[in-house]
Amino acid sequence: MFGRGATKKSDNTKFYEILGVPKTASPEDLKKAYKKAAIKNHPDKGGDPEKFKELAQAYEVLSDPEKREIYDEYGEDALKEGMGGGGGGGHDPFDIFSSFFGGGSPFGGGGSSRGRRQRRGEDVVHPLKVSLEDLYLGTTKKLSLSRNALCSKCNGKGSKSGASMKCGGCQGTGMKVTIRQLGPGMIQQMQHACNECKGTGETINDRDRCPQCKGDKVVPEKKVLEVNVEKGMQHSQKITFEGQADEAPDTVTGDIVFVIQQKEHPKFKRKGEDLFVEHTLSLTEALCGFSFVLTHLDGRNLLIKSYPGDVVKPDSYKAISDEGMPIYQRPFMKGKLYIHFTVDFPDSLTPDQTKAFEAILPKPSTTQLSDMEIDECEETTLHDVDIEDEMRRKAQAQREAYDDDEGDDDHPGGAQRVQCAQQ
Ligand SMILES: [Zn+2]
Ligand SMILES: [Zn+2]
Repeated sequence: MFGRGATKKSDNTKFYEILGVPKTASPEDLKKAYKKAAIKNHPDKGGDPEKFKELAQAYEVLSDPEKREIYDEYGEDALKEGMGGGGGGGHDPFDIFSSFFGGGSPFGGGGSSRGRRQRRGEDVVHPLKVSLEDLYLGTTKKLSLSRNALCSKCNGKGSKSGASMKCGGCQGTGMKVTIRQLGPGMIQQMQHACNECKGTGETINDRDRCPQCKGDKVVPEKKVLEVNVEKGMQHSQKITFEGQADEAPDTVTGDIVFVIQQKEHPKFKRKGEDLFVEHTLSLTEALCGFSFVLTHLDGRNLLIKSYPGDVVKPDSYKAISDEGMPIYQRPFMKGKLYIHFTVDFPDSLTPDQTKAFEAILPKPSTTQLSDMEIDECEETTLHDVDIEDEMRRKAQAQREAYDDDEGDDDHPGGAQRVQCAQQ
């Protein structure tokens, strides 16, 4: 008994070897390894049918967590003995293969004509608007959606008896061909979905029609999904509910996908894991020190203050560590909070204020000009400008001149050249 057990144990690595993966392989690894090897060894591509079958068998067992556990513990024989519900060699390797490619062949065109056709239903994508507070704290949103579910009364058959008839209008193909005579010896052939069966290729006898779905095979259903918005998730990150989209007969149900749309925040701007906030200081605060209270996204009040003697220059930044956004899936780590300072200068000073400042502020380093030097210079007049507005107008004028030069050629290089000229 002991000896037999030991031999059995020795053959619980074969399936891993066939797929060329370690015993610790994740379901994702298995999927990738199988897909790659199966395409390479597909008989339609001249591969060895035995090898192809082995791959499917190995993948069928290892991709099923229950069967994989039995296999890891007791080996292949245990599966044959029925512990895993008859896992050994039951399924058609072509079915397993085609389930990877939504029923079609990955080789295009005809390919394998075997097995049932399993279409993959469409994914349903919803934008999900989320506030910055929610992304900071994490939240759960309950969303009610309606979708098509297979009719429970007829199991998606559409009829009471489970029977359907081949559509007479299209001979079961779902398509109709119309031929039009365009002229002598010239015809046009047009193919369109059969109107009698809506392209399904089958019809249901009126008396046999399922009373719940009226032969549609599906019924609308309300579904409530709990969407878990995790701390630190990013704009346009996806949250997927696999196989929860509309159901349809003979179709692998698609996914419902929520795409996070981060709402603009009136106070904080986010760049990845960092937060940015604007703060304006008076000239006195910039020179003599400041303190202010900033309410964070979670409602905490942060006291932000300068060191004595520190001077804050206009358009400068200071940062506070660990007060940025939490990092996705590592929520105890946080980015930085940057404060961008603007300094509000007075528009003008009285002669007395000027004198007072001159008395306390450091002397200018430039040497005083002599009367003779001033006499040799030309007088100029300074006037106020809005520099951004001036540059915008100049760029516009240059762009117009450039467009005239190049005629209809308005590739993006034009704008670039203008930008270079500005510098
Ligand atoms: Zn038809
Ligand atoms: Zn029904």
